[in-house]
Amino acid sequence: MQETQYIWLDGKLVDWNKSTCHVLTHTLHYGSGVYEGIRVYKTSRGPAIFRLTEHVERLLFSAQSIKLNHGYSKDELAKAIIETVAANKLEEGYIRPLIFNGYGEMGVGSKNPVSVMVACWPWPRYHESAVNGLNVKTSSYIRIHPRSTIVEAKICGHYTNGILALQELEGTHYHEALMLDVDGFVSECSSANVFMVKDNIIYTPQLGTILPGITRDFVIKLATDYGYQVIENMFKPEAIKTADEAFFTGTAVETTLIRSLDDTIIGIEGSNPVFQYIKAGFAAVVRGETERYHNYLTIVN
Ligand code: PMP
Repeated sequence: MQETQYIWLDGKLVDWNKSTCHVLTHTLHYGSGVYEGIRVYKTSRGPAIFRLTEHVERLLFSAQSIKLNHGYSKDELAKAIIETVAANKLEEGYIRPLIFNGYGEMGVGSKNPVSVMVACWPWPRYHESAVNGLNVKTSSYIRIHPRSTIVEAKICGHYTNGILALQELEGTHYHEALMLDVDGFVSECSSANVFMVKDNIIYTPQLGTILPGITRDFVIKLATDYGYQVIENMFKPEAIKTADEAFFTGTAVETTLIRSLDDTIIGIEGSNPVFQYIKAGFAAVVRGETERYHNYLTIVN
C-alpha cells in the first residue's frame, strides 16, 4: 500500500501514521465494522469519484444494519470522503471509509463509542498480471448464507468467507474463487460480482445471496443502454463453463475477464467482444470521457 499524508478520523484529518486505535477495539475482535471501497479516477476535469452517493448510501445502510450509531449524515460522510481525497492531492486511487465499534466493553453484544475513518491511496488495477483473464476455481466454501447475516451489507466480518476461499487457492494457478450458494447456484467471488454472456444475452445472479455491487448495477445499466438484454437469474457453474464469455465487476477489479472456470476455458480464448465493449465503455465513463454519464462522477476540486 502506498501511504498518503492524511487519514480522516472522527471529524479531523490526522497524519497517516498517527491514526491509531486501541487493540481492544471491538471491531478488531468481532468483525463488527462496515466499510466501503470506492475509486477515484483522473479525468480532464480533476479527480472524479465514481458513484460517491451510492457508496455513501450503502455505507449508511450497512451501518444501520448492524446498529452502529455514528451520528453522521449522508452529506457529512460524502464531504469527509471528498476532503480526504483533496487533502492528499490524490489524482487516482482507492478510498476506504470504515465505521467501527470502538474501545470500551468486551463482549460480542457490547456497544462502544463508534468511530469513522476515511483513508485513500494510489491503487493500480487489481489482478494486473492476469492479462489474459483470470483462472477461477469453484470454491469448496459456500457464500455466507442470507439467513446467517445481512448479505447486502458490507460488514467486515463477512470477509472471512472470502479470505478462506482465496486461501484455498494459494500456491495454485488460480486467481479467484467463485462461491456458490447453499443450493449450488453461482453467487459471487471474494470481492466482485459475476456476469456471463451467452448468445449475446448477458446474465448475472439475482440479488439475494450477493453484495449488490455498485459496479454491477452500473454495468447492467451500461449494457442495457448499449442494447443488450441483461437477465438477473440463478444459474449453476456449468452454465458459465458453456458460456461464450464471463467477467467480474467490482470497485477493485473494475471489469475483469474470466479466462477459465475449473480449468475449462470459457468460449473461444481471445475472443470476448461483449466484454471488451463493456470494458471500454466503463473505462471511458470513469475517466469522464462520456458526457452522458457525467452525473455518475463527483469531481474533487
Ligand atoms: N461482492 C463482494 C463480496 C464485494 O466485496 C464487492 C466489493 N465491494 C463486490 C461484490 C463488488 O461491489 P462494488 O461493485 O460495489 O465494489
